[in-house]
Amino acid sequence: MAKIIRKLAAKSKPLNAKRVKKSRKSSQSAKKATPKSGRARAIKKKAKVPVKPSHRPSKKSARSKPWTAAEIFEVFDRFRKANPEPKGELEHLNPFTLLVAVVLSAQATDAGVNRATRALFEVADTPQKMLALGEEKLRDYIKSIGLYRTKAKNVIALSEKLIAEFGGEVPRTRAELESLPGAGRKTANVVLNMAFGEHTMAVDTHVFRVGNRTGLAPGNTPLEVELGLERVIPSEFMLHAHHWLILHGRYTCLARKPRCEVCLINDLCRWPEKTV
Ligand code: SF4
Repeated sequence: MAKIIRKLAAKSKPLNAKRVKKSRKSSQSAKKATPKSGRARAIKKKAKVPVKPSHRPSKKSARSKPWTAAEIFEVFDRFRKANPEPKGELEHLNPFTLLVAVVLSAQATDAGVNRATRALFEVADTPQKMLALGEEKLRDYIKSIGLYRTKAKNVIALSEKLIAEFGGEVPRTRAELESLPGAGRKTANVVLNMAFGEHTMAVDTHVFRVGNRTGLAPGNTPLEVELGLERVIPSEFMLHAHHWLILHGRYTCLARKPRCEVCLINDLCRWPEKTV
């Protein structure tokens, strides 16, 4: 009896496999045969549009000549000679107002944030004063900044947390900074660098673009670029490297039309599309 059952099972296996194969084939051909709606065609067409090639590592740049340590030193030495003490453009009075300004600057320009915070910081430059001001009045000060309702909530919540857990002071570790409402890795990096002199690399849209275009630190995410830059930049430049790269991206290596003709490092840059 057992022998008969085994025989039957052996016979049925290929038959089932055939059936599965056949049903897959028929569903594929059915998919092919299904006429596409206009919307489906449009979506497919849209998906083919390439992501901004100027911001991401291209195959060409990935193949470009690797940077030598001497060349990287030369790049930052030129930045240092041109601007020995670079400054960030977010106005602030102390670590707390720096933290608030960075939280407000998400998806907003530094100039726009400064316009709002000049008056705000006159009345609220500590967590205690920010709480006394209250969320509603805070909203009035920052309503010219995008996402101001959420940001006002976060600033009040982070002020509360600073008082409750950190004695009203801005904490000095990445983990503590990232635990504050509205603060992420980039905020922590800016505060650690600008308020406490740590060798961190905050990657915003400008640093991301410059890291990729030059080939100094190609990466698909801000974190990849951050870690890549930290790996290659000599320690003596790390305190100011973040500002040099931001300013370079903001004023020279522009997103749409990079000003390669006046670029300090145009002979070293690996971007295949540079215009010099
Ligand atoms: S040469 Fe052009 S692309 Fe390269 S870093 Fe300078 S401005 Fe940017």
